[in-house]
Amino acid sequence: MGYAKQVYLEAEATLNRRHNDAVRHAQQKLDAFYAVCPEAEAVRRRIASTASQAAKAVLRGTDVRASLETLKAENLEAQRRFSELLATHGLTRADIEPQYHCAKCEDTGYVDGRMCSCHRALLRQIAYENLNRISPLTLSTFEDFSLEYYSDAPVDGRRSDREQMRYILDYCKRYAETFSAKSGNLFFTGATGLGKTHLSLAIASAAIDKGFGVVYGTAQNFAIALERERFARSEETSGDTLELLNDCDLLILDDLGMEISSSYITAMIYNVIDTRIMLAKPTIISTNLSMQELEKRYNERFVSRVLGFYDRMPFRGKDIRAKRKFGRH
Ligand SMILES: [Zn+2]
Repeated sequence: MGYAKQVYLEAEATLNRRHNDAVRHAQQKLDAFYAVCPEAEAVRRRIASTASQAAKAVLRGTDVRASLETLKAENLEAQRRFSELLATHGLTRADIEPQYHCAKCEDTGYVDGRMCSCHRALLRQIAYENLNRISPLTLSTFEDFSLEYYSDAPVDGRRSDREQMRYILDYCKRYAETFSAKSGNLFFTGATGLGKTHLSLAIASAAIDKGFGVVYGTAQNFAIALERERFARSEETSGDTLELLNDCDLLILDDLGMEISSSYITAMIYNVIDTRIMLAKPTIISTNLSMQELEKRYNERFVSRVLGFYDRMPFRGKDIRAKRKFGRH
């Protein structure tokens, strides 16, 4: 997937920093070693000089075999002595060699001219961070989700609010525990303040802990970003949000229906939801709107997609934020 230019620049800077830090750190260790063991520096020079003489002997082509044998023996002896000196000082080769963040590409970001997996992971991480900066992913857990705020009085012969919420809480916990790139979609409905965002974020933290790329935001945040990119023609900002929304492992679209209403945004949101259904990528949507209101705001096709491909979780109860504020339980 493509990222904004800024994301590539940030990744490049991070790789450079990692590489230079590893090299500098190794050089410092080596200098410290030479300071206490001057012989080691002389031996290291002998290793380098026997290696370069061997190369020259091959180029000259005269008496190659005899010269090479001698040089090879000298080189191996010097290497043996160097290891010995290291051991005497309680060191190993790893202590004086650069310890790269990624051994495959030695923090250059490329292996055999192809982008290394660490580089791709870094680009993704930076892109997620940039997007989540708009809507900070505050940590919520299942443990601090309290059922005591929900009434246990039966409602018209149906299960009580608390029972309903216990069912949803358990469902979400299971969803988080077993989360994978092929998990299903969830649709949280219900009034404001019933814990929809809380449970979305608890699932998000669990998925992030498992190493998945999670994008969380309110529909309004995404709408603003999409609108901005629509009119920004500069390379720096174009195209980022839509790609991330389509491509991330888990998308959490909070407060659907509260975004600025425009045919462009509505089309984009429908597009993202549809694309993710086709790619079988998990999405969690929450909304305060009823199905009828959603149908009015988007369209019938949208609602039927959601009904067909999402597990609906109807949150119930009274606004728990208000209850918390006034100390009623
Ligand atoms: Zn790498």
